[in-house]
Amino acid sequence: MLGLMQDRPLLISSLIDYASAFHGDTEIVSRLPEGHVRRSSWRQVGEVSKQVANALTEFGVHQGDRIATLAWNSDRHLALYFGVSGSGAVMHTVNPRLFPEQIAYIINHAEDRILFFDITFAPLVSRLAPELDSVEAFVVMTDREHMPDVPGIAADKLLCWDEFIGRQSTHFDWPEFDERSASSLCYTSGTTGNPKGVLYSHRSTMLHTLMAAARDANDVHSGSVILLVVPMFHANAWGTPYTAAMVGATLVLPGPHLDGESVYELMKSEGVNQSQGVPTVWMMLFSYLDEHPEIDPHELGLRIAGTGGAALPLSMIERFERDFGAQAMQGWGMTETSPLCVIGRLLPKHERLSDSEKHQIMLKQGRGICGVELKIVDDDGNRLPWDGKAFGEVWVRGPWIASGYFKGEGGDKLDAEGFFPTGDVATIDPDGYLQLVDRAKDVIKSGGEWVSSIDLENAATGHPAVAEAAVIGVPHPKWQERPLLLVVLRKGQSATREEILDYLAGEVAKWWLPDDVVFVDELPHTATGKILKLELRRQYRDHKLPGVSS
Ligand code: ADP
Repeated sequence: MLGLMQDRPLLISSLIDYASAFHGDTEIVSRLPEGHVRRSSWRQVGEVSKQVANALTEFGVHQGDRIATLAWNSDRHLALYFGVSGSGAVMHTVNPRLFPEQIAYIINHAEDRILFFDITFAPLVSRLAPELDSVEAFVVMTDREHMPDVPGIAADKLLCWDEFIGRQSTHFDWPEFDERSASSLCYTSGTTGNPKGVLYSHRSTMLHTLMAAARDANDVHSGSVILLVVPMFHANAWGTPYTAAMVGATLVLPGPHLDGESVYELMKSEGVNQSQGVPTVWMMLFSYLDEHPEIDPHELGLRIAGTGGAALPLSMIERFERDFGAQAMQGWGMTETSPLCVIGRLLPKHERLSDSEKHQIMLKQGRGICGVELKIVDDDGNRLPWDGKAFGEVWVRGPWIASGYFKGEGGDKLDAEGFFPTGDVATIDPDGYLQLVDRAKDVIKSGGEWVSSIDLENAATGHPAVAEAAVIGVPHPKWQERPLLLVVLRKGQSATREEILDYLAGEVAKWWLPDDVVFVDELPHTATGKILKLELRRQYRDHKLPGVSS
């Protein structure tokens, strides 16, 4: 027997309608690529999203057509999120930090019909345009006054946002369609092989949004003033554009200005109380503060510093707590999982623990959120116990987890039970806290045992002189592989190899101690802010470890 409740489709357009109607005055603040700050509101973003829908309709865009963006976080990008998906087309956010060849591949693979881009990317688009066969119009997200020169694009194909969108009506009736229809598309960076497209649906996005806002998840509500540093081209900015609309939170969008000073100034001027970004961004903020000891970050009133995409180091948890009075918190997931799967929050029973005991729990990636099923398995696919010790590959299942990639790339991904392989190796403890050991492809196998690069990196960044650390396995004649530690020192600080190793000796098991320490000026990062281990392994393949005769 079926229930007798209304069968209304879960559509993204309902989010912007809600935000416009019930939180219309709530501000959306954008620092634009042009340099200035623009103040908008949910009402205005709602109106612009309808102008977007009208422009697409007039252009002849049909349901399911892909519309690309190469853009920073801004109110215009936000209006595209709702206008494109709301009208039934597919919002394809392209990561501009990828190699140009990958960007061209992605746009061609997706067969995008229109490309919206920020002025910053005019040289890139100019260079790529001749290869982008499917793109019928290139829309620069700016006004006439700031229109850049974009050689290589025919004048009738190069449009200005203000003219293409701005002259449209702000009235539009959102269409109703199957909630399982595609809503947005995001390609994973793919450290090997071509990037693969993750195709989200309205239903998956709406369910993820409902869960992500919860008190025990991101804790987002109408009083939240969120600095969204995670780019809108990275896994839908972790879903926050949607969650913010659902609860009517204020969004502060930094555009391309992600250096420590700009981030700090924006946090201060806008009264930001929550922030979201990968750990590298907070490291940039910290080095700015190191250079300006006269600043007291307590003045910000930051409550929650959300991170994800890479492990949250202990030193960062401590610093946010000590210097900002804020709680750092990490989520774990991937583009393929919308992305939220687990979130690192304490349970009520942890309240009575000491600070350092609490920090040990916060170092774990976190507990599952309702809707995501987790399992860790051994090499034969057998489930492993949740005892906090056994580790194996993490597989996930749920209504916002990918079932495969766009156009069938990569083949069937799911196992017989319908779980998706994450490529991450972790333990899960009896409380359900998942703790990442490594990416399966980054694990260091020493004498048949595993050394966790994540734990070692975490320990190394606890040294006061260390700004960033990476650990990779390098070949060893006796142990197959041994850990090599690469260190970036904090500005103005110094440390020797021996000092770092002495410090680590007090933090990790003896046989985990890196065989060597190399000081570098910077570490290579992927387009989504992760340390590029593949590149490091290539560079240090022939590194001669002390005590090993050649
Ligand atoms: P990419 O497209 O570069 O793979 P994703 O954001 O999809 O970008 O990357 C997902 C991966 O990032 C995860 O599989 C995991 O290895 C890593 N990751 C995400 N969150 C965390 C976290 N909190 N701690 C450690 N690693 C994380």
